[in-house]
Order: sequence, then structure tokens, then C-alpha cells
Amino acid sequence: MKVLSCGDLMSGCKAVIEGKDTAEIMAKAAEHAKKDHGMTMIPPEMASKVQAAIKDK
Ligand SMILES: [Zn+2]
Repeated sequence: MKVLSCGDLMSGCKAVIEGKDTAEIMAKAAEHAKKDHGMTMIPPEMASKVQAAIKDK
């Protein structure tokens, strides 16, 4: 399992996203960013920050 704390990227966000691999986290993170942060798309520099923030659990 892998885990991403959205608060590492978006200060103040308490969402924790879990998934079986990086691809699943990225898909869930994109959905979360759209729904809760109003981001209709993830810019490439954001995507690399997200990937760097994913931790093994
Ligand atoms: Zn968030």
C-alpha cells in the first residue's frame, strides 16, 4: 500500500489518500484535487510533487 497526505502539498488539507500503487494514488489525487481544491487539471510540476510526496505504508 502507498499513502499520500494531501497536507504535504496543500497546507491545511487533512485528506489522506491511500492506494495499492502510484497509479491508483494519482487517479484518486486527481479526483480529490478536482472536487476539493477546484483544480480541473493537474499541472506537470504538481504531478511530480505529488509523486514525490507518495510514501510507502
Ligand atoms: Zn487536499
